[in-house]
Amino acid sequence: MVRVSAKKIAKIFPSLVALGACAESRPDAPAVRLVMADDSPPLVAYVSAARAWSPLGFVFSFDASGLPPCAPRWRETGEAECELTINIVRPPGLMETHGTSALADHRTQTIAIDRRKTHPLLLAYATAHEVGHLILGTGEHTRRGLMSGWNLSLSEEDRELACRQIAICL
Ligand SMILES: [Zn+2]
Repeated sequence: MVRVSAKKIAKIFPSLVALGACAESRPDAPAVRLVMADDSPPLVAYVSAARAWSPLGFVFSFDASGLPPCAPRWRETGEAECELTINIVRPPGLMETHGTSALADHRTQTIAIDRRKTHPLLLAYATAHEVGHLILGTGEHTRRGLMSGWNLSLSEEDRELACRQIAICL
């Protein structure tokens, strides 16, 4: 049997290795806790929408996981035994202030969805999409899938984006 090092393969077929790594499923990404920052009761719809990212290993809940908070560099180190907290706020006039109905703020780990956005499907699109910006740590978009903003299914493009952003390829 001829042994070829993974390093050598990566040199010859970089795209093939990248694809292979992406194909491996990883069941242990950080736990994500969603917190409603105002007084409104936590709607199960937010967690349901965010769960569109579950195939990548993230576990979403409104409850504390008991795990320590993730270090700021968790994406680079591949730390998974930790909890990310994402705050959800529903400001009354986001569109007037920011010209958008939903946005993700990386600094405060907060997603804001205009309070007037109440249609369940649009709320789900916005939640899944903005949560994606925070867990992937990027402002990038895809043409289809969750990071297009108009889908609740993880596309290959979403997976490729996640692979580029997170150390342990999901
Ligand atoms: Zn976006």
